Amino acid sequence: MRSEPKRPLRQRTIGVLGGMSNQATGEYYRLINERLNARLGGWDNGEIVVVSVNFGNIEHFVRQDLWDEAKTYLAEKVDRLERAGAEVVVCVSNTMHRVVEPIMAERATPFIHIADPTGEAIRKAGVTRVALLGTMPVMRSTDLARRYAERFGVEIMVPNDSDKAVVDRIIFDELVRRDLRSGSKAEYLRIAHALRDAGAQGIILGCTEIFLLIGQDDLPGFPVFDTTALHVDSAVAFALAS
Ligand code: GLU
Repeated sequence: MRSEPKRPLRQRTIGVLGGMSNQATGEYYRLINERLNARLGGWDNGEIVVVSVNFGNIEHFVRQDLWDEAKTYLAEKVDRLERAGAEVVVCVSNTMHRVVEPIMAERATPFIHIADPTGEAIRKAGVTRVALLGTMPVMRSTDLARRYAERFGVEIMVPNDSDKAVVDRIIFDELVRRDLRSGSKAEYLRIAHALRDAGAQGIILGCTEIFLLIGQDDLPGFPVFDTTALHVDSAVAFALAS
């Protein structure tokens, strides 16, 4: 029997900047609680604040390239998370890290950049050239590729232009609505295999809904790095660190 801890149990409050999409956000909420319970047992789970934004605004900003507007919109949402007591912030969108990272750089609240636990896992797996699937801005991002290279020694490979368009379209038209289609799964696996044949040693699911469609079981022998799972694990570790 575990010894009963002093109550209330102290853990850090995880602030989830969500809504990008609501599907990913639900998964973060579920997984954070599940993993905290797996660590703590009994009836314990997470202390979580969620600010869930309107994905219609995000889709507009991303597809119209309105990054300053996105930054203003999300900075105010981070204010809300901080006012609600978040002791660490995680943003559920790889894509919106482009603006949330600079927002958080000016604040005292700790921020876990989604690429950092992912890069750490890749380094631990001992691979150095990895494919990246995500939205168009993620696959085109030189900042993100630089972060993986400089911090983790990981070279990023991305699909060719027509496959990038396929990956991006399926995210926006299907995955953010949890519309999971076997034809789209086949397309993602075809693209993953093409990247492996071109020299990738593993693949980053660099969009937080992709794990709903494909996972390690679909790609035996080809390491899959799921940003959602790795980000959640890192937030849970932070919440429990003394
Ligand atoms: N959840 C997404 C990501 O991880 C895509 C949706 C968005 O554009 O924010 O990038």
